[in-house]
Amino acid sequence: MRTEYDAIVVGLGAMGSAAVYQLAARGLRVLGLEAHAQGHVLGSSHGESRIIRMAYMEHPDYVPLLRRAYELWREVESQADTELLRQTGGLFVGPLEGHVVGGSLRSARLHELPHELLDGAEVHRRYPALHPGPDDVALFEATAGVLFPERCIQTHLRLATEHGAVIRHNEPVRSWEAMSEGVAVATDVARYVAGRVVFTAGAWTGKLLADLRLPLKPERQTVWWLHPKERPELFDPARFPIYIWETSADHSFYGFPHMEWPGVKVGRHHSGEYVDPDTVSREVVATDEVAVREFVRRHIPALDGDVASGVVCLYTNTPDEHFLADRHPEHPGVVYASPCSGHGFKFASVIGEVLADLVTTGQANPAANFLRAERLVGTSG
Ligand SMILES: Cc1cc2nc3c(=O)[nH]c(=O)nc-3n(C[C@H](O)[C@H](O)[C@H](O)COP(=O)(O)OP(=O)(O)OC[C@H]3O[C@@H](n4cnc5c(N)ncnc54)[C@H](O)[C@@H]3O)c2cc1C
Repeated sequence: MRTEYDAIVVGLGAMGSAAVYQLAARGLRVLGLEAHAQGHVLGSSHGESRIIRMAYMEHPDYVPLLRRAYELWREVESQADTELLRQTGGLFVGPLEGHVVGGSLRSARLHELPHELLDGAEVHRRYPALHPGPDDVALFEATAGVLFPERCIQTHLRLATEHGAVIRHNEPVRSWEAMSEGVAVATDVARYVAGRVVFTAGAWTGKLLADLRLPLKPERQTVWWLHPKERPELFDPARFPIYIWETSADHSFYGFPHMEWPGVKVGRHHSGEYVDPDTVSREVVATDEVAVREFVRRHIPALDGDVASGVVCLYTNTPDEHFLADRHPEHPGVVYASPCSGHGFKFASVIGEVLADLVTTGQANPAANFLRAERLVGTSG
């Protein structure tokens, strides 16, 4: 059977744009289909910044993938002659034995990653805007930094196009069908046939792959850019770090200094508000801000000024908060990835490569084996 494309990628956010690029760069005929316009704010990848870090608190097994992710981001930057990743250093704060500091320390020690362990007084001395609690310590990692997410996606898509990929925005996939020698994908415009299809549909993955009954739970998140109440000079990126701060066993907050004006992004990791991505409320409301304000008043009081902007974004969670990247068990021509659980962006470059390997060879980098779906059999979202 002659197919029009070697591979179709469904969903062109962080992961899909990287997959399209990786496949097109290998010489495959690739079609990328995206439901919405480029730069839309309905998924998980919009906004100005995402943290990248190496001393990975979530699990040391991510570190080999992170090494490759850093390499690939740098490769793409040099091919496109644009800045995607700025290494600013990152500060991870909380109790020594907690998830944030304890988890980061475990990865740093196991993989011999450069880091510093600071007590609360030293944190305040270096970053006078920060007020750690009595039990807080911090791990500082110079390798950590900021990715510019919308530019990362644009750049992957631009390079993919230069390698011959066809990109169609505003064309949602309505259905798909595995056939004996390929996969057909239907939109309102056409029915496309390819040897392989890659689903990278973020919070919509569960709907598109309903037959797999993946235990995925989309979660509504809000993030805020705040103006300082006083001493704006403390929030210059040279004097204020990107941070993740564990305030209790159930809560952590994260953020970034703005790169151009004195202000800071603050978000709470996990709102607990599980939603349907097609009906979720996209407006921020006053109650969304409460937890963030409490955190800011306690630990960054000079930041307690006006809201510059608030935005809704979606996490797509697995039960263990590790990613999924795998082939469909019944249709080997179907490959998918769902790397979110609130921490996936930094991996997009390497997940694109993992997906392209699955498409072209059927095997992924062994470092990604722990992301296969079999570990979740019997679990529910
Ligand atoms: C507030 C917030 C903060 C975060 N902070 C960080 C961070 O600091 N560091 C980090 O590493 N990660 C972070 N993350 C996680 C990271 O942003 C996500 O893991 C990543 O963006 C997910 O990318 P994705 O490609 O899977 O999903 P998306 O970017 O949402 O892409 C999926 C795409 O599929 C499209 N689609 C859906 N259905 C269809 C269809 N039927 N047909 C065609 N297209 C379809 C959607 O429109 C969408 O564009 C954060 C996430 C949020 C929400």
